[in-house]
Amino acid sequence: MNKILKLITALLFITITVSLAADISVYFKTERISQTLPEIKIGEAQYVEADAINKVFNSIIKEERGDNRLHLHLAGKQFIFLLGSPFYSYNNESWNMHLNVRRVGNTFYLPSIFVTEHLPIHFPDMELKNKVLQINRPKDRSVKVIVLDPGHGGHDPGAVGHVLKLREKDVNLSVCLKLKEMLERELGVTVLMTRSDDRFITLGNRTKFANNNQADIFVSVHTNASNNRSASGIETYYLSTAQTSDARAVEALENNVVEQYEGKGEKAKYDALGFILSDMSQTEHLEHSNNMALLIQQNLVAGARGGDRGVKQANFYVLRGAFMPAVLIELGFISNKDEERLLANDEYQQRLARTIFEGLKRFKFRYDRIRNT
Ligand SMILES: [Zn+2]
Repeated sequence: MNKILKLITALLFITITVSLAADISVYFKTERISQTLPEIKIGEAQYVEADAINKVFNSIIKEERGDNRLHLHLAGKQFIFLLGSPFYSYNNESWNMHLNVRRVGNTFYLPSIFVTEHLPIHFPDMELKNKVLQINRPKDRSVKVIVLDPGHGGHDPGAVGHVLKLREKDVNLSVCLKLKEMLERELGVTVLMTRSDDRFITLGNRTKFANNNQADIFVSVHTNASNNRSASGIETYYLSTAQTSDARAVEALENNVVEQYEGKGEKAKYDALGFILSDMSQTEHLEHSNNMALLIQQNLVAGARGGDRGVKQANFYVLRGAFMPAVLIELGFISNKDEERLLANDEYQQRLARTIFEGLKRFKFRYDRIRNT
């Protein structure tokens, strides 16, 4: 008797808690996954947090700096909200939610009815049934986060030019900053940088940063150098333990950072760890890394009109252990006086960024299609 009473009390308690928490349930039919979108009461109305929407729908919400607008990229569509206003624009039309979009500190809140009532209007494959938003499509697995890795930095200048004394670390950073802006503005992805200023970061921490942020793509940017001062041209690498002899020279150049700037004995750690890690992580992404390298290289060579040294494989420490398609670009030879002059030029850097962007854009479209089918 006592047991039954306990059971009834427990059941009652569960029913009450569930009915009090008026969260939204989202059900992905094809994958049979149910997810909860927590609701928060602001004033008398129900709201959902922007970050929670992103988690459930794999969407991106970003504030357009300075103009109070919030951009939501969801399943290939874009919605623009005005902070403190009930209106949003979609497809050049204005929609009214009758409740204001709110901001508390750095957190944004959308009225729940945007999810429960407006989304089903814009997406014919969504419908609200008994407070459950049912979606007839798999979760969007498109590329959302790209990590850009400007090589070297801080007390490690990278290669240094002979004529202008141009430092590799500065070129890498400058091109990555330009590329970041294009990717964010034109592809609506989130771009994270392993460094945004002149600081030193170990090779291991660069990949760790990409893994921790669940990046979909990792791109390391470098400039080349050679004792042969006439050596010139652009090349793009992906990870492999097999390589040709000139690839081995570039590999040594980039891996050398460890012994020179991370400390004595550090190289042994990378060597011991490296093969285990790279076996696990890059193997399954090898084909995609190769495709991405090809597309970037094609666009770079065509757009920058640089010499084509091709797509190569080498065993770079910085690509090891990355659980995503990863490439390393060598933008040109800082040791060649003509290429040093070009690499120092802002317009040329802009062109390099633009052509890498084109390669990444093409790769993203193909890769998204593969991952979403
Ligand atoms: Zn480098």
